[in-house]
Amino acid sequence: MKTTLANTTISAIRGDISDQKDIEAVVNAANAELKSGGGVAGALHRAAGSGLAEECRPMAPIRPGEAVISGAHNLPNTHVIHCLGPVYGKDKSEALLLKRCYLNALSLAEQHNIKSIAFPAISTGIFGYPIEETADIIISALKEKIPESEVIKEVRFVLFSENDLKFYEEKVVGGI
Ligand code: ADP
Repeated sequence: MKTTLANTTISAIRGDISDQKDIEAVVNAANAELKSGGGVAGALHRAAGSGLAEECRPMAPIRPGEAVISGAHNLPNTHVIHCLGPVYGKDKSEALLLKRCYLNALSLAEQHNIKSIAFPAISTGIFGYPIEETADIIISALKEKIPESEVIKEVRFVLFSENDLKFYEEKVVGGI
């Protein structure tokens, strides 16, 4: 499913963030140490190879809400943008920190002349953020950044489960 916001295509698909061949930058739901792990970080680091963790080591640790950019190594992309989402119920205010992740990722894409970017559902796995509470945050970040961007032409949300995809179709892409 797709829509447009200020001439940028916004879409949601079901898939694996480590297998987005036609996208320039993929976003990592990273850990503070920028290492491999479970979920999204594990999938991206496995597919990228050990060079990704090596490149990231000097940039770690990062704090909740922050984002850093690296090369994509063996991934079929040009860049990885690593965001540390908030741990729900622990990092405050989680809504502000989650929004900062999306804003910072989009700013980095803009600065690096990246035309297409794919996001996983940051913080909604191991970090426990209820996905239902994330839609308004994501939409407000998109509405703040996309209209002022002259670079970003495509934003894709890549969801792992059918239920998460349905939610994004209705409330994120459908809510813009
Ligand atoms: P966090 O630690 O920020 O919560 P996770 O990686 O645990 O990040 O999960 C974030 C979301 O990404 C969850 O909804 C999870 O189901 C989903 N997910 C896990 N692996 C992948 C993958 N390979 N591609 C896309 N989404 C994934």
